[in-house]
Amino acid sequence: MPVIRFDDVTKIYPGQTRPALDDVSLEIEKGEFVFLVGTSGSGKSTFLKLVLREEKTSDGRIHVLGKDLSRLSQWKIPVLRRQVGTVFQDFRLLPNKTVAENVAFALEVIGRPEHQIAKVVPEVLELVGLAGKEDRRPDELSGGEQQRIAIARALINKPAIVFADEPTGNLDSHNAQSIHELFSKLRTELQQTFVIVTHNEHLAKSTDRVIKMQDGLIIA
Ligand code: ADP
Repeated sequence: MPVIRFDDVTKIYPGQTRPALDDVSLEIEKGEFVFLVGTSGSGKSTFLKLVLREEKTSDGRIHVLGKDLSRLSQWKIPVLRRQVGTVFQDFRLLPNKTVAENVAFALEVIGRPEHQIAKVVPEVLELVGLAGKEDRRPDELSGGEQQRIAIARALINKPAIVFADEPTGNLDSHNAQSIHELFSKLRTELQQTFVIVTHNEHLAKSTDRVIKMQDGLIIA
């Protein structure tokens, strides 16, 4: 069963005539590592917003982890979002919290017990290469390290799908390279499905599947 399935999905934003997504059909299978590429305005963010149910389709059907999003009741949306870990270009960290607290926070808000948090936070920080930096604050770290915190936070709930929206967009080439190496490592060590949005086609070459978008269409 695919983890994400789009059947003839069209999205037209209110007041617009041109669709942001135009009759898109695709399947992403469990464990796949996919790059979503395309120039600005091609529909990449719209794809992500539809999967997270931040936006609704104008036409067509979306299944995420077997659930038809058009039939998903309002109270189940947070449950859906918990199964999709998301990493953003601008990190979205809490500046007054330490590295460990930033990651722990994702578990606290969903009411996980203290002893569980104390166990899994060091594990995930080790996984992303931040062992030893638990007590630092984000502004004491490099951009690449800050993005590692965000990746740890996205992984901490063991989501079925990890989405990264231009994760290296704010990084210099050295840090961008190290983040891509981290994703490659995670790919071999974890069972999750990764969808990485980028307009850096060079980085996207290092994978087996690239979905290329243009003007709301999948062109390759
Ligand atoms: P990308 O992420 O590839 O840059 P987007 O999905 O953000 O592309 O945008 C696709 C198209 O939809 C663009 O033409 C954009 O202007 C339009 N669009 C995106 N969000 C909105 C919105 N909230 N209201 C109206 N138009 C939008």
